[in-house]
Amino acid sequence: MNKVEEYCFFRGNFVPTPEANVNIKTHALQYGTACFGGIRGYYNTQEDNIFLFKIEEHIERLYQSAKILFLQLKYTPEELKKIFIELVQHSKYKQNVYLRPFIYKSSLNLSPRLHEFDDDFFVYVIPLDDYMDIHKGLKTCISSYRRFSDNQIPTKAKATGGYLNSALTKSEALMRGYDEGIFLDIQGFVSEGSAQNIFIVKNNQIITPDVSSSILDGITRKTIIQISKDLQIPLIERKVTRTELYTADEAFFSGTGVQIAWISSIDDRAINLGKIGRITKQLQSYYLDIVTQKEKKYQQWLTPIY
Ligand code: PMP
Repeated sequence: MNKVEEYCFFRGNFVPTPEANVNIKTHALQYGTACFGGIRGYYNTQEDNIFLFKIEEHIERLYQSAKILFLQLKYTPEELKKIFIELVQHSKYKQNVYLRPFIYKSSLNLSPRLHEFDDDFFVYVIPLDDYMDIHKGLKTCISSYRRFSDNQIPTKAKATGGYLNSALTKSEALMRGYDEGIFLDIQGFVSEGSAQNIFIVKNNQIITPDVSSSILDGITRKTIIQISKDLQIPLIERKVTRTELYTADEAFFSGTGVQIAWISSIDDRAINLGKIGRITKQLQSYYLDIVTQKEKKYQQWLTPIY
């Protein structure tokens, strides 16, 4: 297969990504004053088309993040959707892709504040299959870093600056020989992974930290809440304690990048004897069937590119 040139939408034009560069004084680069999204497009071989997953929800979250951070988006939701579709068309991909829209303080001013400074927007697209191996169980540990609370960095905004917290956790976990770290919130309750929401299963019930546990309100998390209803698996959102993780029957992560990835151990305690659990497996295959349209029930969640 010929290598496809990577394209982005930058300063109002579709340009090759290597040509899209910013000034070193850019405010967002200096202070992390930006927000972003992560959207998957799934290539369907039979239809020879790429389908973006839950594009409207991603656009809505982008708007919310921008509002919280005083970032102005100069495009309407309809215009954004059109830009995303045209970008993938322009790149001529025939494989799974990932889009990264980004709204940032483009001002070259020195002061670390959010208001009255200029903003800009770009979106790039890359090919992306599995971001983590979802068929192998993940070895996880509780992070020594706490998840920031909503009064420190707004947890509902997908803010770039907040990812320093994620990066510290991810590196700590990898450098200690684990695959992923799990954050506790400021109060000591379970929060989420470095870039994923977390779920456990206990006595055939799915449990996930509620939105007041300093989590990003993940779009995949919401999808799981919806589809577990369909599968008639009870699910509750509530505070989760560290000990509940150790004694869970099953545990898994969710996110646009990881999709549904199962956890084989937490702080060296094997979960389900280190094997994928029945409910996790059922949800994982249902989710993959939905995004690849083997399951047709949720086709309204998928937007075709070509
Ligand atoms: N939490 C964090 C911190 C994340 O970065 C992500 C990835 N966007 C998620 C949760 C999962 O969110 P989503 O399902 O919307 O991708």
